[in-house]
Amino acid sequence: MNDPVLVEVQNVSRYYGERPAIRDVSFTIRRGEVLGFLGPNGAGKTTTMQVLSGNLAPSSGRVLIDGHDLLDDPRAAKAAIGYLPENPPLYRELTVDEYLDYCAALNRIPKPQRREARETAKARCGLKDAGRRLIGNLSKGFQQRVGIAQAIIHLPPLVILDEPTVGLDPIQIREIRNLIRELGRDHGVILSTHILPEVQATCDRVQIIHKGRLVLNDSIEALAHHLKSATLVAGFRQAPDIARLQALPGVTAVQAEDESRVRIFFDPALDPTDAVVRLATDAGWGLHEIAPEKLSLEELFVELTASTGNTTEAAA
Ligand code: ATP
Repeated sequence: MNDPVLVEVQNVSRYYGERPAIRDVSFTIRRGEVLGFLGPNGAGKTTTMQVLSGNLAPSSGRVLIDGHDLLDDPRAAKAAIGYLPENPPLYRELTVDEYLDYCAALNRIPKPQRREARETAKARCGLKDAGRRLIGNLSKGFQQRVGIAQAIIHLPPLVILDEPTVGLDPIQIREIRNLIRELGRDHGVILSTHILPEVQATCDRVQIIHKGRLVLNDSIEALAHHLKSATLVAGFRQAPDIARLQALPGVTAVQAEDESRVRIFFDPALDPTDAVVRLATDAGWGLHEIAPEKLSLEELFVELTASTGNTTEAAA
């Protein structure tokens, strides 16, 4: 990917008193990229979003936004950011238009251009017909759209979204995810979430944070690879011959779940799925189910944190 770097986070740590919320975090975001920041509750996602948006000073390290140092040149750096915090700063007693006009002024959009900026943000967020409605009377999904509209009204190169779909129903979640994907075409986007499918549905790249440290930074395709475990589950209409399954190349063990269902463990370099299908067909076992077992997010965390050897972190 050759798009220019939009955000450079260099060795950022943030302590609350003695307690580290994030430690030595470094990453970049490029233009046209949607980066998912994934982690369980308390991992340090919100702290990272607050540091990135200039709302919380890091204890150490540096953040460059569009080439501007967030501490040395905060005005220029912050002008390049649109931020949807975990709890959007909405004024319930204002109409959508009144609120967005106010946000346009806050973002120093010149008066003659404010109306156009507001209408563009509304159109992009599916709020065209909601201008005169009181924010307090909107559904949670529409309120979230208003929160995103205020984040993009000044067309910032970088959009930061902290847990953008929390509390929404499945239809609203789908709409907001589509909107995020669309935003990714023109802006760099970073979104934090503790929901793995959210990242898979919307992001190009994923970073996993665990106890304040980055434990994974990869493309979505690589994440899918991490989530694949070397296990297959197969179900048959007739009891299969375990010894014959066991003899297939790559198979390391076969465990009978019940009479007609087995769990097959294999060497990841030698996936035996095709061979199992062929054997089952030739032997007439009536194969009716075969599926790779996927790791859950929790299992992936366990695997990543165990393999990075930072088990002592828990005590910190
Ligand atoms: P969640 O999904 O629950 O919001 P998170 O990944 O966003 O979690 P943070 O809110 O960044 O996590 O918190 C990281 C750690 O820092 C947690 O252990 C939290 O208790 C601690 N923390 C956060 N804010 C403060 C604060 N103002 N004072 C002290 N500790 C804090």
